[in-house]
Order: sequence, then C-alpha cells, then structure tokens
Amino acid sequence: MEASATGVLGRLRAELPELRVLTAAADVEAYRYDETEYMRPGVPLGVCFPRSTADVQRIVTLAAEHGVALVPRGAGTGLSGGAVAVEGALTVVFSQMNQILEIDRANLTATVQPGVINAELGRAVAEHGLFYAPDPASFEICSIGGNLAENSGGLRCVKYGVTRDFVLGLEVVLADGSVMRTGGKNVKDVAGYDLTGLFVGSEGTLGLITEAILRLLPTPPPKLTMISFFPTVPAAGEAVALITAAGIVPVTLELMDAFTIAAVEDVHQLGLDRTAAAMLMVESDAGGAAAETELAAAEAACFAAGATSTLRARDAQEADWLRQARRAAHPALERSGVARMDDVGVPRSRIPDMLVRIERISAEHGLKVGVFGHAGDGNLHPTFVVDRDDPTAEGRIDAARAAIYRAAVELGGTVTGEHGTGLTKRGFLELQRGPVALRTMRAVKQALDPQGILNPGKLLPPA
Ligand SMILES: Cc1cc2nc3c(=O)[nH]c(=O)nc-3n(C[C@H](O)[C@H](O)[C@H](O)COP(=O)(O)OP(=O)(O)OC[C@H]3O[C@@H](n4cnc5c(N)ncnc54)[C@H](O)[C@@H]3O)c2cc1C
Repeated sequence: MEASATGVLGRLRAELPELRVLTAAADVEAYRYDETEYMRPGVPLGVCFPRSTADVQRIVTLAAEHGVALVPRGAGTGLSGGAVAVEGALTVVFSQMNQILEIDRANLTATVQPGVINAELGRAVAEHGLFYAPDPASFEICSIGGNLAENSGGLRCVKYGVTRDFVLGLEVVLADGSVMRTGGKNVKDVAGYDLTGLFVGSEGTLGLITEAILRLLPTPPPKLTMISFFPTVPAAGEAVALITAAGIVPVTLELMDAFTIAAVEDVHQLGLDRTAAAMLMVESDAGGAAAETELAAAEAACFAAGATSTLRARDAQEADWLRQARRAAHPALERSGVARMDDVGVPRSRIPDMLVRIERISAEHGLKVGVFGHAGDGNLHPTFVVDRDDPTAEGRIDAARAAIYRAAVELGGTVTGEHGTGLTKRGFLELQRGPVALRTMRAVKQALDPQGILNPGKLLPPA
C-alpha cells in the first residue's frame, strides 16, 4: 500500500475515531459492485460510513491532501457502474446519513440526508398528506443520494417529471473539502448559475451531496389502472405515440413485450395475456370523473393502434398487482438467465421505430431480448437474456448495445434515459453530445475537481 493511502487511513482513524472504516478484503467485497455486476471493479483502499456533513468534509479534505480518490455510494442499485469501486480509492457509503431532517408543510418541502431510502421518504411524507413524486422501480431499495446523483426517473415521470424537477436545494462537499449550499426553499430563485441543476445527475464526479431540499406535492387522488394488450410490439409503440399526440398525460404509461410478460407470468401468475406481443399499463391519478375520462381516451387510442383487449383493475389491490407486474419485470427476466438491462430514450413519436430497431438488432446478433420501460417518456429498457455459460454472449451483447445506441441517436434520442453514463455509457457520450459539449463537461470537471479525485473514470471517457 502506498504511503499516501496508509496515511489517509491513519489520519481518518486518528481524527474521526467514531468513523466506521472497513479495510479487510472480505468486508469491502460487498461494496465493490453495483447492479452492473458484469463490470470489473477495483479493490478499494477501504469503505467508510460518514454520519454527518462534518465527517464527509474531513474525509474529502484528507483524501485531497493525500491524493486519494473517493467513490460516493448510496444503496448500490445503480445500473451504469457509478458506485463500482475504483482501485485504491476510498468508497464513501451514505447509509448512515439516513435522516429525514424536516417535513415543512407550509413550504411543501422535505429536507433529507442522502442515505434516506426513496420509499421511506414517500411513506413519511404521506403521513402528512404529501407526496414525493420521483419513484424509480427500485424505490424500495435505492437512496435519495443515488437518485439525485443519477437524476433518476421512474414510473410517474410522464406526468410529474424526473428527480431534478423535485430538487430545490443541495448541500454539497466539494473536492477541496469546502461545503456549498445551492438553492433553498424558494420556489422561484434565479440568482446566478443553476448549481443545483449541475450537481443533480453529476454521478458523484463533481461533489458529494450531503443534504437536499426536495419539493413535495399534495397527495394526488387514488389511481385508476388499465392494461391493454397488442398483437405486435410496434402497435403498442403506436398507441404511446397516439396517446401523447392526443395530449393525454397519464401518470404512468409503461410497456412490456411478450418475452417480459411471459417471464413475469412464470413468476407471479397474474393472468396477463401470454398470447399478446406487448402490453401497456396506463394509470390516471386525475381523480373521479377526470380519471375516467383520461383512461377512456387512452383506451380509445390503444384500440385505434390495434389493441386486442383492455382490462381495468377493479380495485386498489388488483391495481397494485398490475403495478407489481411492471416493477417485477427485471427480476423476472433475471430468472430466465443472465439479464443485461439497458436504457435508451427517444422522442415519444419515434417509439414505434425504436422498438422495430431493437427487435431487428437483437435478432441480427442472435440475442433474446425482453423490452419493457417507461414508454410514456420514450424511455425503453431492452434487456438481453443469455445463458450463464455462453462464452460468445458478452461480445454479441456489446455489439448489439452499440448498434442500439447508434439507432437511438439517429432517431434523435439518448444513450441513457435514466440509468446514467457511469462506466457503461461513457464511451458513447460523444456520439450523442458531440465534441463541444464533451469539452465543456471536461472543463466543468477540471474546474471543480482539478485533482480528479471524485469518482474518477466515471461519466467522462478517458481523455
Ligand atoms: C430493479 C431495478 C430497477 C430500477 N429502476 C429504475 C428506474 O425505474 N429509474 C431509474 O432512474 N433507475 C432505476 N434503477 C437504477 C437505480 O436504482 C437508480 O440509478 C438509483 O437512483 C441508484 O440509487 P442508489 O442509492 O442505489 O445509488 P448507487 O448505485 O449507490 O450510486 C449511483 C450513483 O450515485 C452516486 N452517489 C450516490 N450517493 C451520492 C452522494 N451522496 N453524493 C454524490 N454522489 C452520490 C454514486 O457515486 C453513483 O455514481 C433501477 C435499478 C434496479 C436494480
């Protein structure tokens, strides 16, 4: 171990004796990977668990002094390798900074530490008749810090937007150990650059988020839920385009193809139509008659696109089962083999084209693919399922991924709608953003982290 590395551990132990620091190989193992378990992580110098902003400040200051890199980590559910361990770096886990500091009804805000689990925040604010809208499908296990750093989406984005739309202010520890506050409780506040917006989605590469002021809404009315089955995948894509064009804004508009339906049915036996090529789940939280009208209009659009049948949830429990079906899509596919979930987005009118391209590209590479996702946002998760012992699978998946990203960009879309750039997409950032934007991103990184100690190698491709 280098002197700088032993030095930082020694200083941490001396200056923060209460800080939990793991260094044994067996102890750090659980913190090396995230949900991209196919990534090859480094061996970290150690894993530490700060309990306060002051702890984080001290950790960053000492790391900067010793030139040791830091990898911020929430709950490790990321799907682009953002929290994957870096060789010789210190992983900073936020699980012990998990307090909801304030729920401010007068201002409709919650002030939270980054380790709070998304679903726990949802339940806590619900007790006050309030609602925190961003809900990644992993909401029961992912942390707000990870949501902020990835600018995560979820199943309610069509109507409410993504994490960024619910962040009013942040507390961030910068790479030199100084603490910065951005934003606040003001609904309108345009003083200076939008630093809150810069840090949301920065994937731990610009600063460590230690607190956030989040925007809340009054609890919406209970949802009405409908599913619609289609004879072809593009027909379901066409229905999404028609619903959008008609100006209907459901709270949820999710897609699952036949492969995913079968995988979910095998596990949960919900009675989904196994003969359908695709299904859409549409939900309205407009309330009462308005919800009925919204679902009726969505149903008409589905039939216009060629739907064979639709089904309304009869009660809240049935609606919950259907929602679980969608949330279970990825775990269910994982039971069929190694499931490699991807994430691309296109303008919603291009969804039918994107679905055709995904099917074609997967077939060209001899890959089984399940497609599901937040179709109402134009955000799809093509998920390749391969045999664990197939030696050619990795190469074929990589080739298909690259072709799918190129197709998305050609259609005016994005190489990642919500999972982030991390390690998995950094090589495709320039393809989408172009050299000038990439140069600008590098300049931002250089200005805020000149030593390059914050989550090195993530988001930006090697120069
Ligand atoms: C089954 C499943 C379903 C999913 N569904 C969705 C979905 O619907 N929508 C979606 O957007 N994502 C989804 N994800 C991906 C993932 O859950 C999200 O990206 C989530 O926001 C990650 O949160 P986390 O706490 O696990 O973060 P981690 O994976 O630990 O970290 C993610 C990134 O955030 C950084 N980070 C974490 N905490 C901080 C901090 N305090 N300060 C600075 N940087 C920090 C890390 O360095 C890393 O770059 C899903 C994942 C799974 C496994």
